[in-house]
Amino acid sequence: MKTISNELLEDISILYVEDEQSIREGYGRALRRIANHIYTAENGKEGLELYTKYKPDIVISDIKMPIMNGIEMLKAIKEIDEDCQVVFTTAHNDSSYLLEALELEVNGYLQKPVSKDLLKSKIQKISDTIIKEKVTLIQQKEIETQKAILQNVLDHEQNLLIVTDFQDAFFANKAFLELFDSKDIDEFNHKCPNLLDVFLPLPNYLHQGLLKEDENFFDLIQRSEDTKRTVTLISIDGEPKAYKINVSRITHQDMESYLISLTDITKMNIQKIGTEKKAFYDGLTGIYNRNKFDELFENELNRVKRYANNASVMLLDIDHFKKFNDTFGHLIGDEVLVLLAETIHGNIRNTDIFARWGGEEFVLLLTETPLDIACKIANNLRQNIEDAHHKTAGKITASFGVTQITSNDTMQSVLNRCDKALYQAKGAGRNTVKYV
Ligand code: GH3
Ligand code: MG
Ligand code: MG
Repeated sequence: MKTISNELLEDISILYVEDEQSIREGYGRALRRIANHIYTAENGKEGLELYTKYKPDIVISDIKMPIMNGIEMLKAIKEIDEDCQVVFTTAHNDSSYLLEALELEVNGYLQKPVSKDLLKSKIQKISDTIIKEKVTLIQQKEIETQKAILQNVLDHEQNLLIVTDFQDAFFANKAFLELFDSKDIDEFNHKCPNLLDVFLPLPNYLHQGLLKEDENFFDLIQRSEDTKRTVTLISIDGEPKAYKINVSRITHQDMESYLISLTDITKMNIQKIGTEKKAFYDGLTGIYNRNKFDELFENELNRVKRYANNASVMLLDIDHFKKFNDTFGHLIGDEVLVLLAETIHGNIRNTDIFARWGGEEFVLLLTETPLDIACKIANNLRQNIEDAHHKTAGKITASFGVTQITSNDTMQSVLNRCDKALYQAKGAGRNTVKYV
């Protein structure tokens, strides 16, 4: 099997310049046994032409030659490539040139007649350096290529990817860099010297403020429940986005780093909010539905029982609602329902709990409110409804049944009393408030 350096030695090219034909031919043959690409020239001018054309790795040249001597040729070659590798072959009678030759940096001088072994070992030595440089260059190119391939693959990944020691980011894919408007990792590190600063310190999300002593972010994630492994980042447009975070430890040559992968779950959260909305809000009026009311009512009932809080509840029912539907159609009926919900919503505290109980009936829980105040509020609301006036349906009125929650109550018992009072209000001619 060929090793990389054997292969490269064959690849080494040599320019041999010598004016004496017999010497040139003899050494030319010897050189061809060492390397594959040998160019021979019989004077400096020819040598320079061949150098310009083939850029050989090594130049072996006589000094004293007609037309253009070795020194003049080397000066011209150095203009093209300052680092060219040159060996001069010198004879005793070349001594007049020698001083000048010494001023030019060359790889060596071989005394003529040159021993072929010496020549070979000299070439070998120079080749070794050249080969080493070539190998390093090839390896660097390979690393660059691999990096480019890796970057390309990761740039196609939608998730945000960062390789980091949790301080500096060593590598990031396009999706991540774009979020921070950075063209490369250096620009990002400059903008954000501590990577963990990008995670916002929001409740329910992981951030560096939650780190215990001697703990790193990887540990924090490991000890967090899978569903809680989320972080938020601010994108360039200033919108906070939620991400599921995944971290893997990478150990490479005693160096520990971490691959962070972030999956955007902002949309998923919006969908979740959408589903929650359906589950807890009335589709027509946008206020709480009965399900949500049940839940919130239970909380308030517990407070009344534990802290003897005052809280009251009222049921209200639109009077002769059927008439609106029958006269103006179902759509106007719907508008009346929305108008009533808006009117009440606009006139209560945000601590009060207002829900659609069903059909044209609504329920309102007033926290921190005893019965007498609740009745006054009910009366005000009754008046607000009367004043609301729908553009097609005209005046709307509603009847109210009010009661206060006691520590012996259940939800059922409270609503039964409201119902009873409401029935009385209807019996008393509607558009009125009754309490039990
Ligand atoms: P009362 O004064 O005794 O309360 O009479 P009412 O007509 O308001 O009461 P009733 O219970 O007889 O009729 C309620 C009507 O409300 C019957 C039903 O078709 C209508 N309704 C229930 N839900 C909706 C709704 O979402 N939209 C519309 N437009 N009508 C509804
Ligand atoms: Mg009604
Ligand atoms: Mg009704």
